[in-house]
Amino acid sequence: TELAAASGTQPANGAGAARFTGGAVKVSDLSMSYGDLDVLKGVDLDIAKGTVTCIIGPSGSGKSTLLRCLNRLVEPKGGNILLDGESILAMKPESLRRRVGMVFQHFNLFPDHTALENVMLSLTKIKRMPKGEARRIAEMRLTEVGLAGRKDHRPASLSGGQQQRVAIARALAMDPEVILFDEVTSALDPELVKGVLDLMANLGRQGMTMAVVTHEMGFARKVADQVVFMDEGRIVEAGPPGQIFDNPRSERLKRFLAEVL
Ligand code: ADP
Ligand code: MG
Repeated sequence: TELAAASGTQPANGAGAARFTGGAVKVSDLSMSYGDLDVLKGVDLDIAKGTVTCIIGPSGSGKSTLLRCLNRLVEPKGGNILLDGESILAMKPESLRRRVGMVFQHFNLFPDHTALENVMLSLTKIKRMPKGEARRIAEMRLTEVGLAGRKDHRPASLSGGQQQRVAIARALAMDPEVILFDEVTSALDPELVKGVLDLMANLGRQGMTMAVVTHEMGFARKVADQVVFMDEGRIVEAGPPGQIFDNPRSERLKRFLAEVL
């Protein structure tokens, strides 16, 4: 692929081999509340290794909370989450966050650091990697997302799309097994959306396990292996894009699609 060619990392096992060896995620009967507000009400979800799951649904349905539970930015109230068969609730949050990366709507870059430093920081701080090695990896990841020429720029002098690609490079630099994307194109100017979606599609093709909350139905249809429709803290329907978009079963999903398509 273009991405692999740009980074000089061709698949090791011959043509078509996945570059990433992502982890499988299994969510069972997950519940979560903010105070009295029940936000997740028994969510079951399987994400196979190396697949892309797109999560769609109305605002407030619990999509972000589900992603946050997957890397324990919030603690679930009940249920379980397995990463390659291992309960993430038994892991230290720091070690979990090396294995499960996250990219947010508002990039969350450090404004006083360059693109390169932003990518290096998680390697030196969280992975305690020596600076030289961190720099080498950060440069490689920035090249991969097409930003080699911008590595010394601070976020304020990068476009929104470039900032988001720095955030993706930062997530990739940790060598995660899974990456979570929460509406990562929602804050971008329309002309910058495609570059970020193309990058994500490319990661999916290379075998990264991804959970993607998105309003981009075209992306979900084209890239997802599985589409999950959430409403009011529950998964109402899940299936391949063809089923969800062309043959929705529930009235709620039909209504949602009528509004967004
Ligand atoms: P979505 O991402 O689908 O829009 P969220 O997971 O962000 O949904 O929110 C689900 C529900 O939880 C909403 O009713 C929202 O108002 C509420 N909520 C989200 N975050 C918090 C929080 N930090 N404190 C209290 N309520 C929250
Ligand atoms: Mg959200």
